[in-house]
Amino acid sequence: MQVSNKTDIRRLSADELKTMLEKEGQPAFRTKQIFQWLWQKGANSFDQMSNLPQELRAWLNEHCVIYTLKLETTQKSDDGTIKSAFSLYDGKSIEGVLIPSLDRITACISSQVGCSLQCTFCATAQLNLQRNLSAGEIFDQVVFLNQQSNSQFHKPISNIVIMGMGEPLLNYKSVMSAINHITSPDGLGMSPRRITLSTSGIAKMIKQLADDNFACNLALSLHAADNVKRSQIMPINDSNSLEMLANALKYFYEMTHTRITYEYVLLRDFNDSMQDAKNLALFCRHTPCKVNIIEFNPVSHAPHRASTVEKTMAFIEYLQSKNIIVNMRRSRGKDIDAACGQLANKLAKKNAL
Ligand code: SF4
Repeated sequence: MQVSNKTDIRRLSADELKTMLEKEGQPAFRTKQIFQWLWQKGANSFDQMSNLPQELRAWLNEHCVIYTLKLETTQKSDDGTIKSAFSLYDGKSIEGVLIPSLDRITACISSQVGCSLQCTFCATAQLNLQRNLSAGEIFDQVVFLNQQSNSQFHKPISNIVIMGMGEPLLNYKSVMSAINHITSPDGLGMSPRRITLSTSGIAKMIKQLADDNFACNLALSLHAADNVKRSQIMPINDSNSLEMLANALKYFYEMTHTRITYEYVLLRDFNDSMQDAKNLALFCRHTPCKVNIIEFNPVSHAPHRASTVEKTMAFIEYLQSKNIIVNMRRSRGKDIDAACGQLANKLAKKNAL
């Protein structure tokens, strides 16, 4: 795999780009022009930058590079869900998903190649962590999925969830930079209220989000409100206990006044009992929140099964009886490799052959 030794221009801040251009005798306004091409118009080559002088475009081509995603494969489900696997400049693979529903089109994007956390219900865990994505690679998924949404559904994406491969809070700088470019008026101009960052729960970084005035929504992959059980399916809980998370979430709520979403995948005979529902209801008392109950999407190696309809209904009814807002999230794309990490996993294995 040939990796260029040119400057990856999207890793430069505006100030760094300005300094580089000044050394070449370029006026300051070129920085803004180039930034707009990169982060507003999603340009993937310097030749597209039609308002730059020919000599500057040639200089940029010689010294800089824009690493872009390459679409490798797409799978479309009968329910409209479209999953795409992308290859990166170094041959690694990630995936992004477009999920249409009645009132919205959601783009689910990845933050890392693979993941260092070993949640037992997740296909991405099998890939281990290969590397962090750059802000540009995170941003590109949004640009690509938005184009795909326009061509397939004739409307742009309405929501973004950073819930694909990887733990976003372990790639904090790039994720925050990508969000900044997605929401900035000089970028895609999307409302932060339409973006949700989903974390497996890194208490220290949740506090960091609060200190950084995070304006997007925050979802916690909770999946068990009991430390013993949660540690069994999410080893990150060993170092970030429910008590530490509750503390961090209270701080987050105090600083941002944003209601927390708890993601809870119902696993048969593991976390779907009445006692589990009671534990969850108790955890929900820490801050204003809502709960998304998620139907389990089977993953080949996972030792879990989806809960039954009866237990699911009883679980939801109990939470509602405690005045908790509950949404049921049906598993989407059951007929394709829709569980997080499945498609990229396949592609990675194929590329390794
Ligand atoms: S669920 Fe998220 S945090 Fe857990 S292994 Fe999968 S990608 Fe990583």
